[in-house]
Amino acid sequence: MPIPSNIQTVLDPSITGRPDDLLRQLRSRMVDEQIAARGIQNPRVLEAFRSVPRESFVPEGIRQSAYDDRALPVGQGQTISQPYIVALMTEALGIEPQHRVLEIGTGSGYQAAILALLAGTVYTIERLPDLSRQAQVLLNALGCTNIRFRVSDGSIGWPEEAPFDRIMVTAAAPELITDLVDQLADGGCLVAPIGNEPDQRLTKIEKVKGRLIERPMIGVRFVRLIGARGYSE
Ligand code: SAH
Repeated sequence: MPIPSNIQTVLDPSITGRPDDLLRQLRSRMVDEQIAARGIQNPRVLEAFRSVPRESFVPEGIRQSAYDDRALPVGQGQTISQPYIVALMTEALGIEPQHRVLEIGTGSGYQAAILALLAGTVYTIERLPDLSRQAQVLLNALGCTNIRFRVSDGSIGWPEEAPFDRIMVTAAAPELITDLVDQLADGGCLVAPIGNEPDQRLTKIEKVKGRLIERPMIGVRFVRLIGARGYSE
């Protein structure tokens, strides 16, 4: 199997045409100007964004845009979210080092790489086999050893591994998915974009002594969650 182009970048960052130092500067500026300046304060979260090479997670042709303040296409009609949104969702979860975290929508694997630096174990589900495979190769090359991958319909979660301390959904469903809430540990929380376009809202759900507390966050635009509890294809 030929080495995917994004892995070559991991092995030799100069392939992007930008020396290593410049990439580090761009990443640092992204953290300062797009993330910290907008109110993300958790030092562990900021450090995670300083260490993950976002340029490795975007297709070669648009790598020069890796640190832009926006979502980017990653192939098969899917996107890697805007850095600020990834950071906002990550901080909202309040992840601790011992946590088991479920992510729905592996996509490029960028969010999984961030979660892997903050949590004990990350369980990530993607419905498109090619995207999952590509993310697995890349995350292995980056040395992330605490991520478990699954190709399946994440709208029904990963019941065999439940309960999870934290759940992050990175594709939008029309409403809150009870299957996922059921897989949340007591004291845990979930963040998901909920609602029909163009009215999707990032929503945080906390489970406290069996009761759910819902906190609406900002308006967002995510690709659709396609599956049994999401949209039909
Ligand atoms: N977290 C990703 C961004 C994901 S975009 C990143 O950091 O790059 C949303 C992803 O959710 C897409 O890859 C899409 O294929 C996937 N997806 C959509 N419906 C899904 C489902 N039911 N189960 C698992 N993955 C799903």
